Amino acid sequence: MLPVQLIRKKRDGGALDDDELRAFVSGVTDASIPDYQISAFLMAVYFKGMDDRELATWADAMTRSGDIIDLSAIPRAKVDKHSTGGVGDKISIPLAPAVAACGVAVPMVSGRSLGHSGGTLDKLESIPGFRVDLSVEQFAAQVDALGTCLIGQTARIAPADKRLYALRDVTGTIESLPLIASSIMSKKLAEGIDGLVLDCKVGRGAFMKTIDQARKLAQLIRAIGIGAGKRVTCVLTDMDAPIGRTIGNALEIRESIEILRGGGPRDTRELTHALGAEMLMLGGVARDPADGRARIERVLGDGSALEVFRKVVAAQGGDPRVCDAPGSVLPRARHRDELTLPAGQITAIDSEALGIAAVLLGAGRRTTDDVIAPAAGLVIDAYLGEQIEPGAPPQIILGHDLDPGDPRVAEARTRISQAFTIAPPGSTPHVPPHAQPHTMAPTASPGSRILEVLR
Ligand code: URA
Repeated sequence: MLPVQLIRKKRDGGALDDDELRAFVSGVTDASIPDYQISAFLMAVYFKGMDDRELATWADAMTRSGDIIDLSAIPRAKVDKHSTGGVGDKISIPLAPAVAACGVAVPMVSGRSLGHSGGTLDKLESIPGFRVDLSVEQFAAQVDALGTCLIGQTARIAPADKRLYALRDVTGTIESLPLIASSIMSKKLAEGIDGLVLDCKVGRGAFMKTIDQARKLAQLIRAIGIGAGKRVTCVLTDMDAPIGRTIGNALEIRESIEILRGGGPRDTRELTHALGAEMLMLGGVARDPADGRARIERVLGDGSALEVFRKVVAAQGGDPRVCDAPGSVLPRARHRDELTLPAGQITAIDSEALGIAAVLLGAGRRTTDDVIAPAAGLVIDAYLGEQIEPGAPPQIILGHDLDPGDPRVAEARTRISQAFTIAPPGSTPHVPPHAQPHTMAPTASPGSRILEVLR
């Protein structure tokens, strides 16, 4: 196979046969195809797409480019959750132990922060000593013993994706639905799961800006998963405002522990209950969404999910006292600045801008070798639809370790101020239907972040 022939065929809108696709992925994995030919091929896929058969074969070849973890000796159902990436999205941290406490195993291979969106691994590493670089064997043993383990992608999991993703990142080919779907699924299918719940974020803080795009991605992911013999549910969720009250690694661990104690912000609880319910249904433990939610609520309320988390933290080298006294275990920011919003009603929040502000303060990476400041981030007490009274106390706290005069602090403040659209007092603003204070009692819609469930 000559790579240039495959590039030409895709460029001209042809469909590659299975052998051609597998040979290409094999050349990506063993580095026999150079970066420039892979990049040209990716751009051809970006413009011409892939049909269903091509995508199934391509994703399967990517999955098989490395090891497929064998968890078949574990008698429980194995179900993971993946989020396409949001701002303040800490849901995996309370969710994995809660689902494990309900009897479904959660083998979770997570990612790091990417652009404005955070990463579960960076959040977990803000717990002193917590290690995410376990071997595949340690991973499997912990899933068996504790019901869950959260690690990073090893060199042995979907190595083709590692190379393809790095090239997509610098060649303007990230935003291709078949490439996103195969990238996500190659890593998930290599985890040895029986089922997957995909949390597909929609809105200003998400990759998918519209519900139509999100639905298309969800359909591709479901097709790949079902083709591989897995059960897949996609939940489309609103990402037009940050999740919960915190953005930043240690801050989000604190909020996750609130959830594991049965409290926490309303939207964060709702997402944990809803996604957990879908995982329990896929794992055969819950009859329906209501039964699943009730089971998740129970383990969050009676401390059993927190107990699983405590054991996970200890097993992965972290300080388990974080579960009881997070404030004394987690790092604290050296500086805390405040920001007060003008009076009026909040009609829109640009969560992407808030994510970028948190990155500027040190909570994420601007380049791949940036070092994260684990304590940096934002605490936000201002919700979509909320009325801010004149003279109200500051709604936003910025935590950071930067010099107070560092220009990044000023830029973060500007971005935060611009992220809130506020209708002045006396006007009659349009408030989106999902706007509700997070502090309200848990109810279903309105105010729900769950837009659609594809089972
Ligand atoms: N997450 C992934 O793992 N891959 C993508 O392509 C996009 C988001």
